Amino acid sequence: ALKLQGLSKRFGTVQAAQDISLSVEAGETVALLGPSGCGKSTVLRGVAGLERLDAGRVEVGGREVTTLPPEARHVGLVFQDYALFPHLSVLDNVAYGPRMRGTPRPQAWAQAREALALVELLDLQRRQPAQLSGGQQQRVALARALATGSPLLLLDEPLSNLDEQRRTELRAELRRLFARVGAGVLLVTHDQREALALAGRVVVMRAGRLVQQGPAADVFARPATAWVAAFLGHAN
Ligand code: ATP
Ligand code: MG
Repeated sequence: ALKLQGLSKRFGTVQAAQDISLSVEAGETVALLGPSGCGKSTVLRGVAGLERLDAGRVEVGGREVTTLPPEARHVGLVFQDYALFPHLSVLDNVAYGPRMRGTPRPQAWAQAREALALVELLDLQRRQPAQLSGGQQQRVALARALATGSPLLLLDEPLSNLDEQRRTELRAELRRLFARVGAGVLLVTHDQREALALAGRVVVMRAGRLVQQGPAADVFARPATAWVAAFLGHAN
């Protein structure tokens, strides 16, 4: 689903990401972990085409997309702040991606309804985002990513802003959902239980660099460095 090689991005004097290489297979969920400011969102935004990279090669679904604009990359995105368009209905929010890619409206709506059914929000399709709970809005954001039909989903803290109980519920729903759609998922989370519940593999970053990657159980059981051990042991 994703092959990323040598992604580097600097902001002024801050090396936000340095030579990051990782891959996500179809049907696999990989969690990207690391402390605040270590470069996780920079990597996701770079893959999505929302940051101009200093270096790196990005392949999505077997196609090189390094120089393509975001809408041509075939990735589904959920951001940290998952902003929905407040003036559009739930249905039109979800249909937005397919519409932007030139899909005729009836077909875009059909795709959107399918995605809304997956997150069990079909009955709320006529509402405006402001008429939904935070958790429902987050699920709409997920449906919007799913509706793109992309081989790769980039999820940046998709369950943030939810209370612990809702997080736990959605975690289980997401695992089923990911299995059903068969896309590759790159998931940024601060929540290690979430990472363990959803991801087969984890990638750990520190200050812009990749410090360890491997099967989730291995990384948690055998951290490569004292720093990784402390990070996994202390965060959350
Ligand atoms: P968090 O867990 O808090 O979301 P993160 O791992 O996603 O953090 P990034 O957002 O990727 O971190 O930021 C990495 C570094 O790059 C930080 O030092 C941040 O301040 C810096 N940075 C990110 N975006 C910009 C920008 N547009 N301009 C300048 N610096 C930036
Ligand atoms: Mg971030």
